[in-house]
Amino acid sequence: MQQLCRLLVGLFFVLAIGPLAWAQESRRAVLFINVQIFDGKSEELITGHDVLVEGNRIRKVAPRIRVNRPVTVVDGQGKVLMPGLIDAHTHLMAVKSFDEAIYRYEPTYIAAVATETARRTLMRGFTTVRDAGGPVMGLKRAIDEGVVPGPRIFPCNAFISQTGGHGDFNPSMTYLSRHFAGRLDKAYLFGWTITADGVGEVRKAAREVLRSGASQLKVMGSGSVTGAHDPLDVVEYSPEELRAIVQEAANWGTYVMVHAYSDAAVRAAIEAGVRSIEHGLMASPETFKLMKEKGVWLSTQCLNYTRDVDEFGVKMPPNVVAKFREAKRSADRAYRLAKRIGVKVAWGTDLLGSLDVHNAQSLEFIARREYFSDIEILRQVTSLNGQLLALCGRRSPYPEGQLGVIAEGAYADVLIVDGNPLEDVTILANPSRNIRLIMKDGLIYKNTLPRRGAPQRRVRSPASNVPPR
Ligand SMILES: [Zn+2]
Repeated sequence: MQQLCRLLVGLFFVLAIGPLAWAQESRRAVLFINVQIFDGKSEELITGHDVLVEGNRIRKVAPRIRVNRPVTVVDGQGKVLMPGLIDAHTHLMAVKSFDEAIYRYEPTYIAAVATETARRTLMRGFTTVRDAGGPVMGLKRAIDEGVVPGPRIFPCNAFISQTGGHGDFNPSMTYLSRHFAGRLDKAYLFGWTITADGVGEVRKAAREVLRSGASQLKVMGSGSVTGAHDPLDVVEYSPEELRAIVQEAANWGTYVMVHAYSDAAVRAAIEAGVRSIEHGLMASPETFKLMKEKGVWLSTQCLNYTRDVDEFGVKMPPNVVAKFREAKRSADRAYRLAKRIGVKVAWGTDLLGSLDVHNAQSLEFIARREYFSDIEILRQVTSLNGQLLALCGRRSPYPEGQLGVIAEGAYADVLIVDGNPLEDVTILANPSRNIRLIMKDGLIYKNTLPRRGAPQRRVRSPASNVPPR
């Protein structure tokens, strides 16, 4: 009878709080043994240490960790354990070019494809991204709630752009802005862009974007390669407007990142107090020196400018081709200068387009090798990007733990890889083969480690930590 009662009580719990019970099961502690550790910073692998994950944090990194309660043991087979990767410049919602995504396709189609883009991003080993513009908040919410798999997202949400600037995608060449015609642009309605002119408007735009949950602001500060209207060399926004946006961000406890190519635009952004320059390819040596002096980040992307026009998998209009070639001519010089001067360089990709285009993300590891050493690239994509993302302070969506490092108290975003990335970082360019285990927030999303070696102590199966699909 007593047994029957227990069974019925047990059944009640399974039926009534099944999902909760499941979540607790999936949050079971994980002990990584038999691994060599790249901690995100050191050029030497740490050997002879285990890593204990409890909940969504790394609790302990030490030799021979003993745990006297149920734990899932993962035998790393002597492979390298490292932090999850961070991409500091993505556009997860840009599954088409910006203007197509805004004006041609249904928002539900864009969201559906973006959901798959996010899943694949995570499965390439990217456990965190800084999303540099686009209406990503709903996708972020669904990922954070565990509804769909994807990386952590530091969202910028809507771009802030002047009329005719890089964020003004309106294809109409007649004067139809809401200011004069009273008509709302789809780019504003769907949360892609706020076009704002003058100090008063940019302050309001900044406040709207911050209200939407952005962890930092993205401002369009110069002409662009893919913009609908602006030549590459133009400066966008006045110093007063830029300063006003920076001040609004600072009042909210965060910072501004600026899209800027031309030297004048990069310099104006730095002088206005911007913390992260996106692209920055045409900056002069003096401007790079100023960047270094003020501790401003160069958030740039090598893959985009080591490729040729026909290697993108999309057909570029003639005016875009011309602008692309102009930017490409500056890229090589800019990367070498930035390295020589010692500017802090972030790791990012800025890919816009189909799933296939986004699939090229990991090739950035190959492109960067032309300019940076393997350890430099590894630090960029882990601990340095982690530092950059932390500039948003308490506005971070994930404020409790560090990102991009294997350290006690850091978030449990962990990879196990085949080969030693310190000797050959390009192993990360083939994630489906070489990334054997992906853990994000303490949950294992992929594990293709062979099930042999050390006995799996007190464990049902390593798969018991796998999150819901
Ligand atoms: Zn971008």
